[in-house]
Amino acid sequence: MNMYDSERMKDVLAPVGYGPVDGPEGADLVVLNTCHIREKATEKVYSELGKIKQEKAKTGGKMIVAVAGCVAQAEGEEIMKRAPVVDMVLGPQAYHKLPEMIARVHRKSGERLETQFETLEKFDALPKQRSVDGPVAYLSVQEGCDKFCTFCVVPYTRGAELSRPVDDIMIEARSLASQGVREVQLLGQNVNAYHGAGPKLEGEGDWTLAQLIRHTAKIGGFDRIRYTTSHPRDMDDDLIAAHGDTPELMPFLHLPVQSGSNRILQCMNRGHTREHYLDVMRRVKEARPDIGFASDFIVGFPGESDQDFEDTMDLVREVNFCISYSFKYSERPGTPAAEMFGQVPEEVKTERLHRLQALLWEQQTAFNKSKIGETVSVLVTGKGRMPGQMAGRSPWLQSVYFDGDESLNGQVVDLKINHATQNSISGDLVGAKEVAV
Ligand code: SAH
Ligand code: SF4
Repeated sequence: MNMYDSERMKDVLAPVGYGPVDGPEGADLVVLNTCHIREKATEKVYSELGKIKQEKAKTGGKMIVAVAGCVAQAEGEEIMKRAPVVDMVLGPQAYHKLPEMIARVHRKSGERLETQFETLEKFDALPKQRSVDGPVAYLSVQEGCDKFCTFCVVPYTRGAELSRPVDDIMIEARSLASQGVREVQLLGQNVNAYHGAGPKLEGEGDWTLAQLIRHTAKIGGFDRIRYTTSHPRDMDDDLIAAHGDTPELMPFLHLPVQSGSNRILQCMNRGHTREHYLDVMRRVKEARPDIGFASDFIVGFPGESDQDFEDTMDLVREVNFCISYSFKYSERPGTPAAEMFGQVPEEVKTERLHRLQALLWEQQTAFNKSKIGETVSVLVTGKGRMPGQMAGRSPWLQSVYFDGDESLNGQVVDLKINHATQNSISGDLVGAKEVAV
């Protein structure tokens, strides 16, 4: 979501003369787009600001420094106090105001802190045309969250759940497709809770994510569609069916489970059980047998016992994931879990994380190796690390490398896979498909 927001900040700033540069050295404007989800991410902001302070000094104080994103939302005034190098602070629903805020800094008058929650106003104010950077693009369709998992800051920093209207999304989608985007990733904090207003389909109200995916497939231009991040509670029958009936929808599902213990899931206020999760996974696999599963896990949530953790390990063994993200529970101020009894000692969290990650990496490596000998379609996204090498992504979001010409960039090619490691697969070109016009 932050990557999408950063792209949109570029679109907002282009008309007033700002363009991207490679680093902060000598820049007119530096925007730190920040994440508040875990403590580590938040702390990074202050250490980055220390470095930026030195760069600002080199410009004789002319550089404008902005802090955007969820740390800005959560710590607004505090940032201004703690880091006087910062000229302005904008929450995730206020970055369309960047040009106006820059003018205020130049005028030396006006509010320097914008943290309102007018999500729709933001989308209305953003330019309808997107600038694209390569064949893969994000498209935000839904923002915010009303689920209030007890560990999570998102409902407080991103605000209430809101779905963008179908027509707005389609204008943005067409702009992306017309500029050569082949793979689009529909984004939302709870993307499968999507319920946007759209042209009324017979006898129905708001659109669902499944309807939006099928419609996005129909407008043409995209070979590949993905969606992220979804919640187990919102995996409805039609969305599961879409995995079977929409070939553009990639055989990949990122469905965070957080824990395999029903007791912990309840304390987390996740609103689903382990059994419900496993049932969803089984049904998705029935609809699309070659599906790859990904998930997020938190270890060391308050009160997590050895047995609760073993339940998580057991769930991982049962599902078999192809990629996963796992984190130590991080206490977030203001969330209910931060006040809970039974905070788990750091060394226990570390030990559990190591064990979980070892298992997840084993599964990831085995998944990658299972592709050896298969022909895999790959979207070429740029140059590889070695001379003469190109890089791309497989339907299962694997990084793929092969020897090929730069002219293949942006195309979908077939590769016969002959090598796999924990983090990537590689192979030989079978034949390049025509670029869709
Ligand atoms: N909406 C998504 C996740 C959004 S946050 C969902 O409901 O699954 C992205 C991931 O960050 C979460 O899946 C979770 O694994 C992790 N996360 C969120 N808050 C955290 C915290 N306080 N400590 C550790 N990890 C956290
Ligand atoms: Fe956070 Fe996701 Fe839970 Fe919402 S559903 S509170 S974004 S973890």
